[in-house]
Amino acid sequence: MPKGQIPWNKGKIGVYSAEIIQKFRDRHADVRGSKNPNYGKHLSEATKEKIRERARNRVHPCWVRKVELKCLTCGRIFKRWPSQLKEKGYGKFCSHSCVAIWRVKHQKTKNTKIELKVEHYLKKLGLNYQSQKIIKEGRTVADFYIPEQRLVIYADGVYWHSRKETQKRDATQDLLLGINGYKVIRLPEEDIKKGSFRRKLKRAFEGRRPILRVDKGKKEEENGE
Ligand SMILES: [Zn+2]
Repeated sequence: MPKGQIPWNKGKIGVYSAEIIQKFRDRHADVRGSKNPNYGKHLSEATKEKIRERARNRVHPCWVRKVELKCLTCGRIFKRWPSQLKEKGYGKFCSHSCVAIWRVKHQKTKNTKIELKVEHYLKKLGLNYQSQKIIKEGRTVADFYIPEQRLVIYADGVYWHSRKETQKRDATQDLLLGINGYKVIRLPEEDIKKGSFRRKLKRAFEGRRPILRVDKGKKEEENGE
């Protein structure tokens, strides 16, 4: 209240009952006197500013800061609350897609023999390719990737890729890659063993539409070759 002004309720009896006034006094007891060392003092502006500054820098013990972590797959630094780290499965990867990529990359593959065969052929053609390439937009690890043509090649083993769930996942992956401007070729184990995958690959390298399904008649032709 500014100096010289008279409070509206000064000397007026019956505005607040004695009981309520006592309550007010009790509530503000610590501000009024004994507990507050600055009560009744006139502080200079500099000292007040000092006190304010101290309050600003104070860190309450209940306040928690996010923890900075490094993603195992992509190496990006991301933040998590400490309470999240107590739960299982948090704190290693920045996103779900990074988890998926890590899983695919580190699972034991049974179809390495097929992949070797395809790799051998790619080397023979003298193409610039990358094996086990992470493609983030497609949420996959491509068996082979040819950057010049944005071509993704998979060698699909019979054991895994005949399952319904895997086929569903493959289809969504193809769609995702297609949306992001990648061409996808899936080489089934049969084709690789028979050797007809070479024709399929060549067709793709020449920029023609890849054969998605080989008809029965054509299969026989290939066998004849
Ligand atoms: Zn990541």
